[in-house]
Amino acid sequence: MKVIENLAHIQAQIKEACQKVDRDPEDIKIIAVTKYVTIERTQEALQAGINDFGENRPDGFQAKYAAIGKQAQWHFIGTLQSRKVKDVIDKMDYLHSLDRKSLAKEINKRAEKPVDCFVQVNVSGEDSKHGLAVDEVIPFVELLKDYSNIHVVGLMTMAPHISDEERLRDVFRSLRQLRDTIVEADYDHAPCRFLSMGMSNDYQIAIQEGATHIRIGSDLVGPYQE
Ligand SMILES: *Cc1c(COP(=O)(O)O)cnc(C)c1O
Repeated sequence: MKVIENLAHIQAQIKEACQKVDRDPEDIKIIAVTKYVTIERTQEALQAGINDFGENRPDGFQAKYAAIGKQAQWHFIGTLQSRKVKDVIDKMDYLHSLDRKSLAKEINKRAEKPVDCFVQVNVSGEDSKHGLAVDEVIPFVELLKDYSNIHVVGLMTMAPHISDEERLRDVFRSLRQLRDTIVEADYDHAPCRFLSMGMSNDYQIAIQEGATHIRIGSDLVGPYQE
């Protein structure tokens, strides 16, 4: 399928999800996750009108960035090793996977200007998932005030890969409640307005629960490709 056709379908689904909860589709940013696809396919997505791309590994990110660069905004969505920070930090527009103090420290040291970060939360508590436990998040956000190059714009989570709608809703709702608590605290370094949640499997539900950034790979640009 062409990206433009997939995009039209996803936009219709977004509209439907928004109507159910009286939200404006304009408030939802679609990030095309291109980690499995080629530079050509990524360029096709750019032509189709997508301006936000997500990559989860430094190598893949740098290859796509070299081809497309500032024509798009770049979201780094994977675990970032501290030793890789210096190679990628000033190229990305958003980091969705801030999950530890050592990473914050390295970013603070290496970045030329403040980086817009999402704190990654492991809401479901699955061993396989990265991110902070729910009860670690507020203390972590508070300690980030000492890092002038970290700007907390939101929270990110990956829901478990299940079809049980109520369980998915609970995960998204928990992230939203946590976000609301942080917003209420009114930290200068952490406005934390955004919720990066929802993937191909669950974005309609994530939108109903308040997602502002959805990260879509398979349904938009396709799964594994050679
Ligand atoms: C791969 C990935 C996605 C996209 O997953 P799809 O199911 O292909 O839409 C979203 N977020 C993260 C963090 C990912 O690693």
